[in-house]
Amino acid sequence: MKVLKFGGSSLASSEQFAKVKDIVMSDDSREAVIVSAPGKRNAADNKITDLLYLLHAHIQYGVSHEGVMGMIKDRFVGIRTDLGLKTDIEKIIDETFEKVSKKTTADFIASRGEYFCALLMAEYLGYEFVDATEWVEFDYKGKVKTKKSEEKLRALKKKYGRIVTPGFYGAYKSGDIKVFPRGGSDITGALAAAYLGAEIYENWTDVSGILMVDPKIVPDSKAIARITYDELRELSYMGASVLHEDTVFPVRLKDIPVNIRNTNDPEAAGTIIAEEFDDELSEEHERFITGIAGKKNYSVINVYKSRIGEGKIKLMREVLQLFDTYGIPVEQVPSGTDSFSLVFPTESLGSRQHELMHELEENDSIDRCGISEGVSLISIVGRQMAYRTGISGRVFKTLGDNKINIRTIEQGPDEINIMVGVYNEDFEKAIRLLYESFAKER
Ligand code: ASP
Repeated sequence: MKVLKFGGSSLASSEQFAKVKDIVMSDDSREAVIVSAPGKRNAADNKITDLLYLLHAHIQYGVSHEGVMGMIKDRFVGIRTDLGLKTDIEKIIDETFEKVSKKTTADFIASRGEYFCALLMAEYLGYEFVDATEWVEFDYKGKVKTKKSEEKLRALKKKYGRIVTPGFYGAYKSGDIKVFPRGGSDITGALAAAYLGAEIYENWTDVSGILMVDPKIVPDSKAIARITYDELRELSYMGASVLHEDTVFPVRLKDIPVNIRNTNDPEAAGTIIAEEFDDELSEEHERFITGIAGKKNYSVINVYKSRIGEGKIKLMREVLQLFDTYGIPVEQVPSGTDSFSLVFPTESLGSRQHELMHELEENDSIDRCGISEGVSLISIVGRQMAYRTGISGRVFKTLGDNKINIRTIEQGPDEINIMVGVYNEDFEKAIRLLYESFAKER
């Protein structure tokens, strides 16, 4: 049995609904479908969820909201009419919005996009509509009650067989609605797949899988055929705009693979995310790296103390403590014999630079210290790199041959990533060169 989640762009119009139906109907094991709210039909369009938050703001400020409400209603009525469905979505929407007042929560209003969408999709597919409030239950701290929610979903699935359920929200025991963070339908899908013990969680979107590098830097980047959860974590941590590993954690726990697929190109195999692979068979086996990601705008603080010797650990501890007090996340701590540096996101320091430098200068164990900005971190990720020789050599040669200075270097203990720091101005060029060097073959 497969669990499928469709994102907003896959549901933006009646044409997209038709593609979804073809996909679901083409495989008998596609039994549970989670939907987002309709997204943008083109670059100038609005996401229904954004409009719903806007609607909530209009209501709060007592501003006339007929315009926004009309836009939301038109979209759903349009889809219903185009597809010739019977669901009286007009009436359902009217009744929903008649009841809203200043007391209505943003969570309730925002959740209606998924709710209306799922009602239409359920009729269109001939699947049973199961409201998310019937199974996603939150405790009052806002955490999903796993056992309860699982029991409920399993019972509903058993009763109805094939179901459509809205993503993005659930309810407290009181019945009040709570939404997940934005993009949270991915979480609902992962929960459903985990609870139902699906053979695979198919996440349908508008790209043919996770790309090896940001397409804004390499427009024709290859897609990744197979990626492990650990690799995904490295890439998403370093800014790759892919499904976050946290999001799919429920399926990871149950060892269920995730398949990222493209609604607009259903023949493409997309990307499989799993705990591990038999790599002899994988496309990634042909190359050392799985993907490259990076982020700009880090700062580096350098700390020097001549003949520091055994005092180094103590000094490092004091400096790290200071960073902790300031709430600054430290990304790397490269060190030399009598010196070490701390690499951190520039924006996390904000306007407190002088304050921090003052505190460091006050420390008698420090001879001198300095700060510089404008560093980018690039993470080269690949399970094939682990315990193989020559990979970092190739990274350094590629950058060195092209006169790109490496400011910092780091490798994680399991050797699935090498991280280098370069100047911001070299960032895109470095990523392009590394991609060209590694993407083709070994
Ligand atoms: N519709 C919600 C959002 O726009 C949730 C989702 O699409 O996953 O964030």
